[in-house]
Amino acid sequence: MENKIRILHIDDNVHDRFLVKDALMHEGGNFEISEAANRKIFEKLLSEREFDVILSDFNILGFDGLQVLEYVREKKTDLPVIIVTGTGSEEVAIKAMKMGAADYVIKTVNHIRGLAPAIKSVLLHKQIQTERNNALIALNESEKLFRTAFENAAVGVCLLDLEGRFISVNNTLSEILGYTKEELEKMNISGVSHPDDMSIGMTYLKQLIDGKTHSVIIEKRYIHKKGHVIWVCVSTGIFYGGKDKSGYFVTYILDITERRNFENQLKIAKEKAEESDRLKTAFLNNISHEIRTPLNAIVGFSTLQNKPNLTSEQRSKYNDMILQSSDKLLSIISDIIRIATLEAGQVIIELKEVNINKTLDLLLEQFNIQAQKKNIELRFNKSTGDDLFVKTDETKLNQIIANLLGNSLKYTAKGKIEFGYRIKKDLLEFYVKDTGIGIPEDMYDEIFKRFRQVETTAARNYGGSGLGLSITKAYVELLGGKIWLESTMGKGTIFFFTISLNQTDNKAKTVAEKPVFKESSELKNRKNILIAEDEDSNYLFIEACLSDYEMVLSRATNGIEAVEICKTHPEIDLVLMDIKMPVMNGLDATKQIKLLRPDLHVIAQSAYSTESEINKSIECGCDDFISKPINFDLLISKINKHLVK
Ligand code: ADP
Repeated sequence: MENKIRILHIDDNVHDRFLVKDALMHEGGNFEISEAANRKIFEKLLSEREFDVILSDFNILGFDGLQVLEYVREKKTDLPVIIVTGTGSEEVAIKAMKMGAADYVIKTVNHIRGLAPAIKSVLLHKQIQTERNNALIALNESEKLFRTAFENAAVGVCLLDLEGRFISVNNTLSEILGYTKEELEKMNISGVSHPDDMSIGMTYLKQLIDGKTHSVIIEKRYIHKKGHVIWVCVSTGIFYGGKDKSGYFVTYILDITERRNFENQLKIAKEKAEESDRLKTAFLNNISHEIRTPLNAIVGFSTLQNKPNLTSEQRSKYNDMILQSSDKLLSIISDIIRIATLEAGQVIIELKEVNINKTLDLLLEQFNIQAQKKNIELRFNKSTGDDLFVKTDETKLNQIIANLLGNSLKYTAKGKIEFGYRIKKDLLEFYVKDTGIGIPEDMYDEIFKRFRQVETTAARNYGGSGLGLSITKAYVELLGGKIWLESTMGKGTIFFFTISLNQTDNKAKTVAEKPVFKESSELKNRKNILIAEDEDSNYLFIEACLSDYEMVLSRATNGIEAVEICKTHPEIDLVLMDIKMPVMNGLDATKQIKLLRPDLHVIAQSAYSTESEINKSIECGCDDFISKPINFDLLISKINKHLVK
């Protein structure tokens, strides 16, 4: 059975209460009516029971229908109140409706019949209202849920109008772009787009507007508020909504900067590896050429030496060619070793006091011979007459300037080469200036990279391995400086480099310890020399070098033999010790010899000529070191030095 409609009727007139009851019962009687004759009963019933509707007379003893309305609003907001009154005044009706009465029915026999339909209509209206309210609450909840999802999405989300203006943005997007939400909501998407990627973004948005596609996904760049570039993956769709069915873009933005940077690094590394591979191949071809050319001359002219009837002039010319080619070969091999040592991080910087003017004077002397041969003026512009003493690595400094002078001589056909230095705050700035072929501007940085040369064609005019400047740059940086150049094609080049200026006052010390060449006659006293050398060719060379001097030579072919000879032959005056030998190496042999005969001088001679090798041999007790290929004059000088002790 249908639930009864619970009614509370307030009227102080018993006749009227009856009239209302009768009218309602007459209508089918599906009503449960409670009656209140005064305010007290009304308030009591209202607090104790539940009602679906209140019927109230307008003029009740002690209070009126408006007060009933007011009271009901206060206690039960949505309980409908119908004013049922004998007063047919329009003014009262309007007043009651304004105060929230659900309806107004006049209590005459004719009108009262309309009460039951009025009650049903009011309740229906209330039901509709409740359902609408519930729907609104559900909508609000769903809107709230959606907002929370929008705000807390792990990707950036925004709503844009079709002009690209931000309508709404979430926290993540604000974090990605560095702007506050309020700032963004006053901006246009173009305000954060990277200028170079603006057009692709616009093209895709246009495709969406034109209905050519429903969604697009692209990777592009935005600019962060702080100015840096952010890579993002943008997924955009279009929809039409709102009252006027306006168009909106809904866009999801994922920050992919890290992934892009990583990809970029991989790409660069790949390109570098490919470039390095290409350069290495070029280097191998080049180096093979650079090694074979002097070797060809050495082998060729050595064979020619055997030709009968050679004039002494021819013989001397062939000799010169052999020596020149040997120097070239040695220089290439030294460069390869230097670059390998640098790459292995094994270069040691040995700081000592260096007299700069003296070092440059010696270099001038050394390079003048080649310059004169090419008819090129070579000049050292001394900036100060006083000697300047600086704490630096002399060998490296020499190598740097020698490389630059060597290049200038190689790439200059006529004119002059000048070099010098000046003090600039806490740096010493050197320059080497030539009137050579010049270097194109796009190669200014390139030529300092390994194997890089301006000329790369097979028909190269100039030889070289392309390693010199990269070694030079690395050495300059090890000495705390920088290297750069200025050049005009066809006119010449100036290389500048700096080193730290660790100036010292000690002017008493001389720097470069040049071999002191003693009169060879001093060597003519009969002296006993032990040559520890396993290679016959090397032994024969030393023997030939010393053949003009009255010396008694003994030979050991390994370390144990060398120790034995020193032990059993006290007349031995000096040992020339090869380092790499079978059975026992030269370093171990030297250690043992020094234990037996501490005063016997040992000169290490080795093809291992890196600084660390030299240091190692000195640590093991060797008194001196001579590197292979052995320079004849230097050998005599060193033997002399250690014999005349
Ligand atoms: P290389 O063994 O080829 O001389 P470097 O590393 O010393 O190698 O020099 C690299 C390249 O720089 C050279 O091949 C040459 O093209 C260019 N270069 C160096 N110095 C000069 C210079 N003084 N004048 C013109 N070009 C030069």
